[in-house]
Amino acid sequence: MRHLLWFRNDLRIHDNPTLKAACQPGAQVLGIYLVNHAALRAHDTASVRMDFDRRSVAVLAQQLAHHGIPLIVRSVSDDHAIAPLLATLRAQFHFDHLFVSREYGPNEQKRDMHLQQWCLQQQIRWHEYDAGCIMAPGLVLKSDGTPYQVFTPFRSRWLSLVAQNPLPDIHALEGFHQQPPLSLEPISIDGSEHSSLHALWPAGETEALLRLNQFIDQELANYHQQRDLPALPGTSRLSPYFANGSLSARLAVHYVRNISGQGAQTWVSELAWRDFFQHILYHYPRVGKHRTFQLHTEALQWSDNTENFERWCSGQTGFPLIDAAMRQLRNTGWMHNRLRMITAMFLVKDLWINWQWGERWFMQQLIDGELAANNGNWQWCASTGVDATPYFRIFNPWTQSRRFDPQGNFIRYWVPELKDIDPSALHKPPAKGSLSLRYPSPITDHDKARLHALAAFKAVSERT
Ligand SMILES: Cc1cc2nc3c(=O)[nH]c(=O)nc-3n(C[C@H](O)[C@H](O)[C@H](O)COP(=O)(O)OP(=O)(O)OC[C@H]3O[C@@H](n4cnc5c(N)ncnc54)[C@H](O)[C@@H]3O)c2cc1C
Repeated sequence: MRHLLWFRNDLRIHDNPTLKAACQPGAQVLGIYLVNHAALRAHDTASVRMDFDRRSVAVLAQQLAHHGIPLIVRSVSDDHAIAPLLATLRAQFHFDHLFVSREYGPNEQKRDMHLQQWCLQQQIRWHEYDAGCIMAPGLVLKSDGTPYQVFTPFRSRWLSLVAQNPLPDIHALEGFHQQPPLSLEPISIDGSEHSSLHALWPAGETEALLRLNQFIDQELANYHQQRDLPALPGTSRLSPYFANGSLSARLAVHYVRNISGQGAQTWVSELAWRDFFQHILYHYPRVGKHRTFQLHTEALQWSDNTENFERWCSGQTGFPLIDAAMRQLRNTGWMHNRLRMITAMFLVKDLWINWQWGERWFMQQLIDGELAANNGNWQWCASTGVDATPYFRIFNPWTQSRRFDPQGNFIRYWVPELKDIDPSALHKPPAKGSLSLRYPSPITDHDKARLHALAAFKAVSERT
């Protein structure tokens, strides 16, 4: 038996059902990881995410090597080039089974449908498993068999199903050692334009598991109280590891779900949001094709003020917390969740810029950029999505700033121009004083912008 195992966003050994299925006793297994240039472009994948994935693949290759399993990396220009590449590999390696972990984006679903057909013609058996979600799309449905569109009942059903789910198999490769091991060229990691971030985001499952344990030991108990305060290390910062599958979300939830306390409960709920948006993408693929979930909101006429957009991107809006957040994103590839919400809502409701511009910018910057979560959250903030915030709930950026960065430590760190300003003025510097500090005046008048957004949403809502 010769098995080809195509790694995707499941770059780990622990709790990897695809790997476990491929590594049956007696099987000869070859792992492959594909860099698909068209897919990376289509998803606006950030270079920092590509760098993180490359490093994660290199770590995985070392771990697989301990079990005698080689991992090769190949580049393809687009989806059409995959079947010819598989045909070439087959001529060399003579595999007759192909193992993959499911992906739920519309392009990925279409790609896999075509490849399954191709495999059928070639007499290659296609095996697919769910490795990305805690409960895979299609498993959490209402009693009438339709998908949930509201998070709270989804979570209730999800929690009851998770409780029935057995603990994942942590050691997917225990006892498996391929003999003789296939020898192949070692993986080279080229280009390190983000090397300054490697210490912040060390790659691989061992690092991910270490982070998970540290988070459980040190932060989980207070998570519900500290998760909204960006100046504190109150959240897990595990999102990049969940995004490329170096860490199994299923394993994480099983570790914490029986820990009592509000902190653990709240954290599990966040992981339910992650599954919820994967389910939405799967059941309503239009959201992954530049469409809104609430179709009537497509009639909104957005501003095309590129100058304002660029000021938002570069953290020069004159709203200190917004600017601090946008600079955190640009400099670290990551932004705190509360700040993602505030900056997203600001772009849409204050600057009246299409949420899709922001969605794209985030994908181009984020180390954890991921279609379902990014799109779902952007549409939530923009009030165009599933179970989204109602259009009339508009964050006041000044109030959010005082509430979630009360000491101003986060602002002072990322906006050093303001570090010596009187603390009472830090959240809303006086326009004149700001200019002398070479910090811009506010880009917009929040009260006026709010009224404009309310009127525009009201108008399209009344038309439906
Ligand atoms: C506009 C916007 C865009 C976002 N884009 C992404 C994205 O591209 N990729 C991404 O992984 N998350 C995204 N999120 C969700 C969230 O901000 C991040 O998952 C979180 O900040 C990651 O930090 P953490 O690992 O410390 O999270 P923790 O607070 O420790 O949460 C644990 C895990 O739960 C999941 N999670 C938490 N909140 C959410 C949420 N609201 N939606 C979905 N999953 C969640 C993540 O996998 C996270 O790692 C976005 C949120 C907003 C508002």
